[in-house]
Amino acid sequence: MQADPTVSTSFLVPFLAASAAAAVTAVSLAALAWQRRNEHRRIAAALGALGGHSADPVRGARNAAGQAIRLDNALAELRAILETAPTGIIALDELDRIVTINPAASRLVSGSGRPAEGRLLVELVRSPELDALIAAARESGQRAEAELQFASASGMHVASCSVVLLTRAVGAAQVLLVLEDRTELRRLESLRTDFVANVSHELRTPITSIRGYAETLAESFELPPDAARFARTISRSSARLGAIIDDLLLLSSLEDPNSRAQLPPAPVRIAGIVAEAVEQIGPAARDKRIAVDVAVDPQLWVAGNAGLLAHAVANLISNAVKYGPADSRVRVEARDDAGTAEIAVADRGPGIPEVHQARLFERFYRVDRARSRESGGTGLGLAIVKHVAQVHGGTVTVESRTDAQHGTVFRIRLPLTEPETARQSDSAAAAPSASAQSRQSA
Ligand code: ADP
Repeated sequence: MQADPTVSTSFLVPFLAASAAAAVTAVSLAALAWQRRNEHRRIAAALGALGGHSADPVRGARNAAGQAIRLDNALAELRAILETAPTGIIALDELDRIVTINPAASRLVSGSGRPAEGRLLVELVRSPELDALIAAARESGQRAEAELQFASASGMHVASCSVVLLTRAVGAAQVLLVLEDRTELRRLESLRTDFVANVSHELRTPITSIRGYAETLAESFELPPDAARFARTISRSSARLGAIIDDLLLLSSLEDPNSRAQLPPAPVRIAGIVAEAVEQIGPAARDKRIAVDVAVDPQLWVAGNAGLLAHAVANLISNAVKYGPADSRVRVEARDDAGTAEIAVADRGPGIPEVHQARLFERFYRVDRARSRESGGTGLGLAIVKHVAQVHGGTVTVESRTDAQHGTVFRIRLPLTEPETARQSDSAAAAPSASAQSRQSA
């Protein structure tokens, strides 16, 4: 009997199909398993590398998790610092849009409390000076700093602003603005300046009349000797008070930006102001037989106010004469020191101990109180020198040694101006300020 082939093949078809499907599935599963294994290897290697243990993925993964937690903590710490810092911090993108702003900065620039992120800085702060500062930092690639007054959504403010570059791209870098609110400080300072100026004004008239009457009494009447001595003491003391008041008024006006604005800078020849100052102090120097040697470069010009500059130099020469020994020499030099006019006043006096030198330019700071009073000092001379130098964009420094023969050198440094841009006005002709005259006569 012959077997029926159709029966046997029909029986095999589903079997073969199932086997083929099983084989395909097995191959696919094997491929998938191979792929997964590779993936696992890659993940393990990555975890290991992340955690610093490429050979041990489990340890690496544990380390990586630890690092992630530490990063989270550091971020939370940074966020807390940013939130509570009294300093305002704003991060700006290349287009001056606010990326991050902390609460201190929000209080300063955004009165509304609306979230400022994403807004343009100019929508919150209107200040061409701040824009210029940011542009300067971007252009130079360096940090830029200035104290600025600006109008913001929360009112007028004075703040010290630092612009720090976040990215190095020249031109359109991302920047960080660091703002310190000085509005209240400046308001209190201006109250103090106004108060001192008002009190000084009020005192000036009665003191002038006391001095006038005391001098008249001492000189024009036949007084008993004691009464004449009292009258002279009243006259001397009121002259000293008058000098203090004049110095206080001058300091107030130097601190006041409005009165500074009324002193437009003019070309000033250093030789002229030195000559003026030496002439003012001449009588006091002659009284102590002190010779004042002058060595001044005649080509030095600065931009400023001749009366104020002569006053500052006169204060230094006056101190050199006051504190220098009788029969000694005082030297006044002026030279061009790499584009800066340096005026040096040197004496052979007792010198100033180092411990006092940092505070010398403070108001009423004296090394030897009794000696200063006795020589008619107001305690304001060096504070005036410092302010006059600052108003002219300059500085004043002291170099002093207390060992014999060294004495003291004060140096005023001022930015030079080109002589050809200077007008024909020689500062020697400029009138000294009223307080310079009264200080000397005190
Ligand atoms: P004063 O009117 O008392 O001279 P200043 O402000 O001019 O006030 O000077 C402050 C103090 O600095 C003086 O009291 C004095 O002790 C000290 N001083 C200033 N110049 C000299 C100097 N050339 N030599 C020694 N001490 C000086």
